[in-house]
Amino acid sequence: MKKPKVYLVGAGPGRAELITVRGAEILKSADCIIYDKLANAALLRFVRPDAEIIHVPKRTAGRSFVQEEINEILIKKAAAGLTVVRLKGGDPGIFGRASEELNALIEAGFEFEIVPGVTAASAASAYTGIMITDKQYSSQVTFVTGHEAPDKEQSGVDFSWLAKSPGTIVLYMGMGGLSHISEQLIKNGMSVDTPTAVVANASLPGQRTVRAPLNRITETCVEQNLKPPAIIIIGDAATSDTRFDWLCRKPLFGKRVVVTRDVSGNADFSARIIERGGCPVSLDTIQIKSLTQRRVFLETLAKINEYRWVIFTSQNGVGIFFEALSKMQRDCRVFAGAKIAAIGPGTAAKLAEFGICADFVPDVFTGADLAKQLIVGNNVSGKKILLLRSQIASKELPNLLEEAGAEVDDVAIYDALEVKNDTKQLTEDMTAGRIDFITFASPSAVDSFFKQVSADAVNSSIAKVVSIGPVTSEKLRQIKVKIGLEAAEHTIDGLIEAMENADT
Ligand code: SAH
Repeated sequence: MKKPKVYLVGAGPGRAELITVRGAEILKSADCIIYDKLANAALLRFVRPDAEIIHVPKRTAGRSFVQEEINEILIKKAAAGLTVVRLKGGDPGIFGRASEELNALIEAGFEFEIVPGVTAASAASAYTGIMITDKQYSSQVTFVTGHEAPDKEQSGVDFSWLAKSPGTIVLYMGMGGLSHISEQLIKNGMSVDTPTAVVANASLPGQRTVRAPLNRITETCVEQNLKPPAIIIIGDAATSDTRFDWLCRKPLFGKRVVVTRDVSGNADFSARIIERGGCPVSLDTIQIKSLTQRRVFLETLAKINEYRWVIFTSQNGVGIFFEALSKMQRDCRVFAGAKIAAIGPGTAAKLAEFGICADFVPDVFTGADLAKQLIVGNNVSGKKILLLRSQIASKELPNLLEEAGAEVDDVAIYDALEVKNDTKQLTEDMTAGRIDFITFASPSAVDSFFKQVSADAVNSSIAKVVSIGPVTSEKLRQIKVKIGLEAAEHTIDGLIEAMENADT
């Protein structure tokens, strides 16, 4: 029988990829994962689908857990013979109350292992370029808690010593007590001008840094509405060399971008925004529903080798087509001699995943351009052409092909269903000027979004509406939405480029 074991795993400071390779490996094999508020839920993508997941946030408005309850859950799950991961924000050993959990495990006789993680201080340092042990300023660094256990009789922090200690002070959990802490340091002799930096959400999209002299840091954080979690860095190191501050120079740094595709489209788009330093705000406006169980699809598939051309106009279409094919234990050989066209590079790349090299991709990525360019380069007259696309796609593409004499079958293989969201927070953020861009990658996303948010609210905000191309723009114009930008290349990367080049 498998021996139960508990792993205390550091999740890192927030950005999911900052977990260690060892941590990720253990997550993959765990039976039960018990995770904190500060551990990024995105890490759960590593876990087995049948693993049990228990969220144990502390000090939150909803269900909140105290340490003893968490210890009990750990023991209960280990006693059930499971491999348990206790996933903790940052490094488990740094202000992580690891020893309490270890004591409970030792008393109960369970085996354990500790896997370190990137602590918030390291992340704040790396993602701002503030070198906390720079040779010029600091040959020592002190990690201090700003949140003492309430039952402690005397403060564990000796401010008279701390105020005089050379080097860098890094405060964890210090936002609530910042005014008291800075007063104590100054009262005990630290200069009012001591450089101080506060880094909130280090490594995460939406990271922000506030800098001020020690005597003005609290009010500056309040003025700038800086919210925890944040690391406070006190000392000459906090001045730092601004050339090291690489994240803030990313093209979309500080920009909040609303993405309005389906779940997987939004995940992909969000990752690209984060890569460029931006902060995605995800609203799943549509849900892609496969229509490949319909008789017409099955009949089409049976005669697919009669077509001269098969045309795909989206990555979703390609994904759904091959999923249906694989369920029928078939593969790309069904196309036999048919040539295959893709509307753009994204669709072509998706085809390549299934071993198909598209025979034709237009150089402007719209249905109309695909039709026009295909007609110019190929004699389509009298040829059978199959379109495998969305139920609600525009008729422009088949009409142009038919005008050129082709015999077109337009088969819907998926539909984009509207998804309802709670848009209260988004509307508030928009009204308060906290949204920079709202992006649309299809007319169906436009339809669904503007059933939930009014065009007036968008038009009167500072948010720029960004459209992927002319078909989506046309839909926006129909409902009187002011278009801020239209992507020159009609792809997700084109949308990103348009935002990067925008003068905001
Ligand atoms: N074990 C954790 C610390 C837990 S204490 C670690 O090693 O990082 C919680 C405190 O960590 C927060 O109050 C904040 O001060 C800091 N913190 C955690 N994540 C942070 C982040 N992404 N950005 C800034 N500070 C963070």
